[in-house]
Amino acid sequence: MAGSVLAGTPIAVDLWRVRRAAGARLFFLSHLHADHTVGLGSTWDRPLYCSPCTARLLPRRLQVPTRWIRPLEVGESHVLGEEVTVTVTLLDANHCPGSVMFLFEGTFGTILYTGDFRYTRTMQGEPVLRGRHIDRLYLDNTHCNPQQSLPSRQQATHQAVRIIRQHPQHQVVIGVYSLGKEMLLVDLAVEFSTWVVVSPWRLEQMRLLEMPDVFTSEEGAGWIRAVDVTEIRWDTLVSWNMLHPTIAILPTGRPVKVTHPNIYPIPYSDHSSFSELCEFVKWLKPCSVIPILKGGMCEAYFQEYLSSIPPALPDLSVLKPVQESVQQQSKRNGQQPRCLLKRAVRHSVPRGVVYESLEKYPETSEECRGFEVPQQNCCESTCCLTGGCACHTGKEKGKEGQSREQPAAATAASAVSQAPVSNEHFPTGLAEQYLLTPLNILKQNSSQKFDKLVEDFFRT
Ligand SMILES: [Zn+2]
Ligand SMILES: [Zn+2]
Repeated sequence: MAGSVLAGTPIAVDLWRVRRAAGARLFFLSHLHADHTVGLGSTWDRPLYCSPCTARLLPRRLQVPTRWIRPLEVGESHVLGEEVTVTVTLLDANHCPGSVMFLFEGTFGTILYTGDFRYTRTMQGEPVLRGRHIDRLYLDNTHCNPQQSLPSRQQATHQAVRIIRQHPQHQVVIGVYSLGKEMLLVDLAVEFSTWVVVSPWRLEQMRLLEMPDVFTSEEGAGWIRAVDVTEIRWDTLVSWNMLHPTIAILPTGRPVKVTHPNIYPIPYSDHSSFSELCEFVKWLKPCSVIPILKGGMCEAYFQEYLSSIPPALPDLSVLKPVQESVQQQSKRNGQQPRCLLKRAVRHSVPRGVVYESLEKYPETSEECRGFEVPQQNCCESTCCLTGGCACHTGKEKGKEGQSREQPAAATAASAVSQAPVSNEHFPTGLAEQYLLTPLNILKQNSSQKFDKLVEDFFRT
């Protein structure tokens, strides 16, 4: 999860658990990836500020009531708040459609919050950033690692083109999240003069995003398909290749464990590379850098680029009245917004292939989860096409069911028949006297005798 209340301000960015956002009065959403919307849903009941593009998608994706959505034009300055005013300017974050950075100005100083962003030199042309003194820079530190280099998205696109050219007879499946990488798909469609086939849900979203007209939901209309990233797996690759030679491309800046020879990861990232982060911080010269993803060591890398002008201190006077007012408000409302993270249905229509349930791959973060192509070891060739594949419907589910939860009766039986028995919830003596009694003797004991035993035990 990547959200926070900015210390000494009434501002919360990407944080939707109001109890954890004590002191926050103004709520901002940087973009619609799932790790930035945890807790945001239909019960949200206060103004939420975001870009116009995010505002268009929000009700559809997360059922946030439209009356609370406050789109703010990108590139313009807006004055918000009553008791404490904050000036905010939204800037394109170059990450995914609708994603923005926030420049906040107030008695607390000047803060730039990048959210997820991919730095580009054109950001140096932003009038509100040029020559600006930044007290605090909240920085997307996803790839803040000097050991890791990333090519530009354009170079990564060329890699994808090369891989596709090397497979002229193959269909191409591209694994993407529910938002992001749209321009890669457009570039490939244009490069190869083909439609990109997507699910009806994704097609509708492409229209909302006003993407170029290269997408269709008509199966077979094009030989490049975009599917959810979780569909790029060993078993789906096996299945697709039985129908038609198929390669899968995984555009991601994260490490990927490849388990099928036809899966090709390409380092296409929507987050800044380490060298881009350095260039950005060196140019911006903020007084301090705060990593957005906790646990990173990134501040040390930028020390030499920081401004020597002392930063404005957090304005502690804004905290008290704000905190009280929020607490009063939540008391009046009587309940906190419920955590509600809905994931819209977005499967492309299967073409006679049995797909594994997505429930096996629980939602963690939309684009920040470490991706792994799961290793399959039970299923060989033809069985998956029949619809009655034992390894997916029987064996695996059985295994999975057992590991998640056992039926109460089975648990009880194994607890009696298989030592050791946990004494955790019983007084030790009682366990010794009764629970560890051999099964044949246990059977002879009536329930009456059990009651008496318990009674006797507690009496002594
Ligand atoms: Zn993101
Ligand atoms: Zn993220």
